[in-house]
Amino acid sequence: MKKNYPMYINGQWLDSKAHFEVTNPATEEILTCVSQGSEKEANMAVDAASTAFITWKMLSVDERASFMHNSAAKIVEHQDELARLLTMEQGKPLEESVAEVEWTAKTMTYYAELAKNQLGRMAPPLGNTQLNLIVKEPYGVVAAITPFNYPLLLLMWKAAPALMLGNTLVIKPSELTPLSTLRMLELCFENYPKGVINCVPGLPEVGKTLAAHVDVPVIAFTGSTQTGINIIKQTAHLNKKLHLEMGGKDAFVLAPDVASGIDIENAAAAIAWSGFFNNGQVCTSTERVYVHQSVYDEFIQALVKRVKTLTLGDGLDGNYNLGPMISAQGFDKLDQHVSDALNNGAKLELGGSKATEFARGYYYQPTILSNVNHQMLCMKEESFGPLVSIMPYDTFEQAIELVNDSPYGLGACCRTGNPLLAKQFYQQVKAGTIWINDPLPDNISAPFGGMKMSGNTRELGMEGLDAFAEVKHIHWELDLAPKEHWINL
Ligand code: NAD
Repeated sequence: MKKNYPMYINGQWLDSKAHFEVTNPATEEILTCVSQGSEKEANMAVDAASTAFITWKMLSVDERASFMHNSAAKIVEHQDELARLLTMEQGKPLEESVAEVEWTAKTMTYYAELAKNQLGRMAPPLGNTQLNLIVKEPYGVVAAITPFNYPLLLLMWKAAPALMLGNTLVIKPSELTPLSTLRMLELCFENYPKGVINCVPGLPEVGKTLAAHVDVPVIAFTGSTQTGINIIKQTAHLNKKLHLEMGGKDAFVLAPDVASGIDIENAAAAIAWSGFFNNGQVCTSTERVYVHQSVYDEFIQALVKRVKTLTLGDGLDGNYNLGPMISAQGFDKLDQHVSDALNNGAKLELGGSKATEFARGYYYQPTILSNVNHQMLCMKEESFGPLVSIMPYDTFEQAIELVNDSPYGLGACCRTGNPLLAKQFYQQVKAGTIWINDPLPDNISAPFGGMKMSGNTRELGMEGLDAFAEVKHIHWELDLAPKEHWINL
């Protein structure tokens, strides 16, 4: 690993005066230092991307697709190295990092081909000597501001469609997990024309500079709702295209038809997965569970039994289900949610504190709370850690009301064998993704994004491509003769 990882601007690796440390959350050891971009470097990157835009947008889609396919193949070739680095900086088990790298490459091949079919349409003209063309054009420079939890995948959900449409890119990776992004650029993207892809690692100030820059028309952001709101405020006077993918507080409802016995056990297995995968640090992690009161106690027992089997340890080891949390800050916020609930009458069913068997690392015990209510932080705010809170309900209508009683609207899941209840759920729940019986999967071909305070855009699918295209209408009269309706001056 490089000692002082440089930044990538205009096809060159540049060091800076200031550096910041990147820590392995499993050991709290410093992995390396990374160049800390400043306003100056952010501006240099925007200048490079603006210049590159002039020629990049003029390439044929096929030419851009060749670059994209080439990089995807290199990512696959270097999959193991990238996955290890990802686990070292983020903490997730190696197997999950391998899957993230694989899906990163798949996203690229998907958009490389999809873009070939999505360049516009013709509208019926007003007269038969006219053409009305609707063309999709690139915006220009896109700032891709990414979070710590899926640094490669969530970057590529933005970068692949944006680049395929002819936009150029300045990446601001999370200050917690910039290494896999920088290494991926080094291994797989250096053959792009200079300035097409730039990366300025650094603290939030780099993101602020990019967001405020007049030559950056699109901010493609994934991160917390608070940061998204800050970006809205920072850019309100500039009328930019803001793609905001923000926080969630996903609910899982066991519908009233979920019966005692194996059905409950299967529901518990699904929630042990969706609540604790990547240590609950998925924007669509199940954080709230609503269970019909007739099976409430049985479900809690089943979930506790399941979650007790999850093992905790260094993700590089390959033998554990869960790694550490990302940082002391994330750890403290989770602990605050647990203490707040317990101080206000919640019951601790499992976990509830630091995993004491580890001398170092941000390990929190997988935690389950019951007897919670919607005044508690664990049911109101995003916890973003290994915590699932369970509440009983009387009627399915009441369960849906509880699901919707949140400022967030990212995803929601319902377990039911009753198609009428499933339909009622997806029609009445306000969320961007609804899962019936199988929580969490994303599908590259289907849009992903949030409603309410969870977001304002969609990534993936055709919608994720259109997000990076500006639509222009061309009214073209082929006949040069004057028109009767023109005023004859
Ligand atoms: P974060 O908001 O702390 O940081 C995200 C990025 O924004 C970082 O690169 C950071 O440096 C940058 N940033 C911070 N302040 C900024 C500012 N004022 N202007 C511009 N950039 C700024 O998020 P995080 O802790 O890295 O990620 C976790 C959050 O991301 C959770 O809330 C999670 O739900 C959310 N998330 C959402 C989705 C989704 O698709 N909706 C997916 C993954 C994660």
